[in-house]
Amino acid sequence: MDESSYRYPCGAVYIFENVKAQRVKVGMTILSTTNVLDRLRDLNNIWIGLKATCQVCGGRRFINTKGLVPQHVVSGVECPGGDRAPIEREVVFAEQHLQNLKKLVENVTGTEKGSVTRKINSLEKRVKLFRHYNQPLGMWQISTVYHTERAELVESETHQILVEKLDKLAPIGEVFCCSVSEASKAVELALKQLGLLDAAEKEINIPTTSGEYGQCVICGNNLTATGACPDCRERLLS
Ligand SMILES: [Zn+2]
Ligand SMILES: [Zn+2]
Repeated sequence: MDESSYRYPCGAVYIFENVKAQRVKVGMTILSTTNVLDRLRDLNNIWIGLKATCQVCGGRRFINTKGLVPQHVVSGVECPGGDRAPIEREVVFAEQHLQNLKKLVENVTGTEKGSVTRKINSLEKRVKLFRHYNQPLGMWQISTVYHTERAELVESETHQILVEKLDKLAPIGEVFCCSVSEASKAVELALKQLGLLDAAEKEINIPTTSGEYGQCVICGNNLTATGACPDCRERLLS
């Protein structure tokens, strides 16, 4: 093995921060740092509604130019939630579909009954979560990344430590109502408990802008590595 393969342990536990919403997200990835950036992009796409949830199957997709969930296929069948508003915007069709499933479950048996029941339960949860959905605030940025072995275990320990701060109303999982410093302390405690603290590498991300990442189409200033304009982003989303 050459020296570069020792530079970082193979996993990462990351803390994303949303200053405006006063929330942090703690997650993990087992590959490289580019993967953390992919997670961040995906999270922001969901957060600002570019990626939205089907009223029927709950799958997340980029919305089309009409603002609807595009047509899609689930288990070989066209999903009736295609070409309709996402559940973030309305739950009417989801509720109709739920009623249909509840009728259906009375008339099926065995494994099919189990599968319909699971669909009912998860759809009920989504309808409840999204009935009074408000577009969440702000955008996410990378705050701190811990490169570590056994990232999965560190992440789940951290979630345990922060369990009382969990934001149960967030449209995505693993969001906590606490500060970055509380979240960092929790990750470090988890690392310590698992005997991984000394081997872990802490990387604090200061969102730097550079001409290399391109210019903002609105103000012309340089962008960050995630393609964001720190000035316009705050202004447009406030
Ligand atoms: Zn669907
Ligand atoms: Zn700008």
